[in-house]
Amino acid sequence: MPGLRAHISTGALGRNIDHLRATVSPARLMVVVKADAYGHGALTVARVAQQHGITDLGALDLATALRLRAAGVPPEVRVLAWLYAPEQQFDEAIAARIDLGISRLSELERALDATRRRRAAGDHDAVAHLHLKLDTGLRRNGATAEEWPALVDAVARAEADGLAVARGVWTHIAEASEDDDTEALRRFERGVELARAAGLTRIERHLAASSAGLRRADVRLDMVRMGGHCWGIPSFDGVTPRDIGLEPVMTLTAPVVGVRSDDARAGRVGIVQAGYGDGIPRLAAGLVSVTVDGVRFPIVDVDRDELTVADPDALLTVGQTATLFGTGAHGEQTVREWGDAIGTLGDEITARILPRVPRAVGDEFVG
Ligand SMILES: *Cc1c(COP(=O)(O)O)cnc(C)c1O
Repeated sequence: MPGLRAHISTGALGRNIDHLRATVSPARLMVVVKADAYGHGALTVARVAQQHGITDLGALDLATALRLRAAGVPPEVRVLAWLYAPEQQFDEAIAARIDLGISRLSELERALDATRRRRAAGDHDAVAHLHLKLDTGLRRNGATAEEWPALVDAVARAEADGLAVARGVWTHIAEASEDDDTEALRRFERGVELARAAGLTRIERHLAASSAGLRRADVRLDMVRMGGHCWGIPSFDGVTPRDIGLEPVMTLTAPVVGVRSDDARAGRVGIVQAGYGDGIPRLAAGLVSVTVDGVRFPIVDVDRDELTVADPDALLTVGQTATLFGTGAHGEQTVREWGDAIGTLGDEITARILPRVPRAVGDEFVG
């Protein structure tokens, strides 16, 4: 009897990517695979994305970016990293042709130093591919408006020296209020003008993630960066995946390993082999259900290794497979519904499923 498993539907993932790509077109879609693609598997997602014509991956950290290259993501697919350790050195990143998000002059200097060292070591094609980050109000990295002119000038000099290519100018917006996002877009466009005036003519502009990117055509610019929507987790309140043309990619299943009468609860309960030790939120108790053969069984307790579910009509038998969340096609809840009920994001729930929980990757999930 298989234990707890996260089934990853590459079919659903590919359809979501096709749909999102078509929606944001002519802007390109960058697929953001940070946090192991929120638990879906960065390498799996990178492979499917590439098969569906995606040429840009967002890694967040350098370790993830290098792992993608080491796994065979070819140089034609750009891999962008933007979160570094203090005093991060970029030699490995330049060698692996990772695109670097740059927020300040000190980072630029280290990227150029690494490029010079690579060239001196015989890697004559080494060049720093840069995406310059402007802070437009979120204060999550990014050069301030005051720092921006000096940064773009320094990058223009590095381009003239042949050491760097500025591929992008970007920012991160809150996606919480239309007015704030509009104000951020305005500041961003001023920054883009300054960058172009400084001589950076090859830059592409990107600022939106899943939420604004789907909702607003005016923020798509040259590229939209999406994580959550690629795996079918809507970022809008009260919206199902199907409402926006998406399918949940992860289905989480676990076996029923016990049934017993429970005097305290005046009824029968089933025991399902999944617990907070696997990453199931303890807060799920009393708020969400598992589904077996189309029937929902409310979770009443989350222990380290097992869930207790109410089974008042004594329907459960040992050996059945319970679905915790999935596509919704067989009566089960979606992870977005779990998130709504528990008061968190579906993204957080999938991201917390521990890496040791096997990912069963296949074209479709057959429940
Ligand atoms: C995480 C992240 C994204 C993707 O966010 P989603 O809401 O999951 O689409 C995009 N851009 C940046 C900079 C991010 O850190």
